[in-house]
Amino acid sequence: MTRKPSTRQLIDWDRRYLWHPFTQMQEWEQEEPLIIERGKGSYLIDTEGKKYLDGTSSIWVNLHGHRHPVLDRALKKQLDKIAHATFLGLSNPPAIELARELIRIAPHGLSRVFYSDNGSTAVEIALKMAVQYWQQRRPEAGPKNTFLHLKLAYHGDTIGAVSVGNIDLFHSRFKPLLFSTLEAEPPYCYRCPLSLTYPSCRMACIDPIEQILKNHHRELAGFIIEPLMQAAAGMIPQPAGYLKRIRELCTKYDVLLIVDEVATGFGRTGRMFACEHEGVTPDLMAISKGLTGGYMPLAATLTTDELYRGFLGTYDEFKTFFHGHSFTGNPLGCSVALANLQVFRREKTLSRLSSKIKMLTQWLSPMAELPNVGDIRQRGFMAGIELVKEKKTKEPYPLSAKTGHRMALIARRKRLILRPIGNVLVLMPPLSTSIEELKKMVEILKESVETLHND
Ligand SMILES: *Cc1c(COP(=O)(O)O)cnc(C)c1O
Repeated sequence: MTRKPSTRQLIDWDRRYLWHPFTQMQEWEQEEPLIIERGKGSYLIDTEGKKYLDGTSSIWVNLHGHRHPVLDRALKKQLDKIAHATFLGLSNPPAIELARELIRIAPHGLSRVFYSDNGSTAVEIALKMAVQYWQQRRPEAGPKNTFLHLKLAYHGDTIGAVSVGNIDLFHSRFKPLLFSTLEAEPPYCYRCPLSLTYPSCRMACIDPIEQILKNHHRELAGFIIEPLMQAAAGMIPQPAGYLKRIRELCTKYDVLLIVDEVATGFGRTGRMFACEHEGVTPDLMAISKGLTGGYMPLAATLTTDELYRGFLGTYDEFKTFFHGHSFTGNPLGCSVALANLQVFRREKTLSRLSSKIKMLTQWLSPMAELPNVGDIRQRGFMAGIELVKEKKTKEPYPLSAKTGHRMALIARRKRLILRPIGNVLVLMPPLSTSIEELKKMVEILKESVETLHND
C-alpha cells in the first residue's frame, strides 16, 4: 500500500511539477500553497484539516455547497452505468433529459441545446454558429463576420473568446492572433466614460452603441454581452433597462444578441438567468459554471429555432455545424446537472435566496464608509468592492501594489477564501450559504479591508 503523501511532500511536488492558471509561478513557489482535500457545504478543508469559507464558490461554479447528497448520489448512480460515450453519432439519456430541462427553464424562445465542456467553448460555439448562420440562412444580408462587444469584456481564454474580450492585462499579448472586432464603452457608472451620473444620464452610453450598430450592422454577425453584470471586468453592473435596450437595438439592426450567462446563470443574480430580469430572449446563450452545481466541467450553447433551421439541408449541402469535442454531452456531467436543477426545485433555492441577497446588501453597505472603499456593486449573490487609494479622486491602487491579492491573503488567515480581480474584491458565496456563514464572510471581508487604512 502506498502511503498518503504529507502536506509538505504535496507542496514540494506542486512546486516542482505544476503550472497554475492566472498565476505568477515565481511568486507561487515562494508562497505557501493551500491544498484543499475535502469540502462540506460552504467550507473547503485543507490537508491539515483546517476549514475555510468558500467566498468564491470555487471560482463561481458552486451553488448548493460542497458534497451535496443529491449531487453526490447522482454522480455515483451514473458511474454505475457509464462514465462516457461519444455524442458523435450516439446519444445518452442524461444529455437528452438535461436538454429538455434546460429548454424548459431558459428564456422563452430558446429551443436547442449544443453541449461542450467549458464557458470558453460555449462562447466559441456561439460565435461560430452566428457566422455560419448568416452565411447559410441569410446570405442576402451580406458577409456578417464580425462582432461587437463591450470594453473590459471577458468571455473566456480561448482565442475566439479572447478576440471578443477586452481586458488588456490578459489579452493584449495575444493581439496578433485575434480577429478584429468593434468595441463599445460599458456602463461603468463609478468611472463613467462620459463623466455623467446615473440616472440623470438616461443611459447616454447606449447612444454610441446605437451609432456603431447603425454604421456597421452590415458586417456585424452579433453583439456579445454578459447580461446584468460584467463579472470578470470587476463586477460592473448594468442599470435596469440596459439589456432590454440592447435587445431592441440588436433586433432593429438585424444583429444577433449573444448573451454570456456563464457567470450570471443558475441563480447568481437572484433569477435562474440574468436575462429574466429584463424579459429578454437572446439569439444565443452560453452557459457553464453553475450548470453542474460546480461538480463537473460541462457547458452548453442554447439557441432559437430560427438559427437552428439555418443549418438544415441535405448532407451534400454541407450546412452541418462542423464542431464538437471529445467529451460533448458527457453523461456524468449531464446527470449531475440534472440533479442540480432538481435541487433548485426541491430546496426552493431561488425563493430562499432573495432574503439572503437583501441581507448581503445590508451588511455590505456600511463598508462604503471605509476610507479605501470606492464603490460597492452587487447583483444578487455576486458582489464586487472596488478599493481605491484616494477616495475623493478615485485614484486606483497601482496593480503592482497587489492590493487585492494582499487583502485575499489577510482574509485567508481569517479562514475566508477570496479571489480578487485587480483592486476589486469579489464575494460570490454558494447560493446555499447560511445567514450565519454569509455574515461571517462579510465580517472577514470588512476586517481585511480595514487593515488598509493602517498602511
Ligand atoms: C468563466 C467565464 C467564462 C469562461 O469559462 P471557462 O469555463 O473558464 O472557460 C466565460 N464567460 C464568463 C462570463 C465567465 O465568467
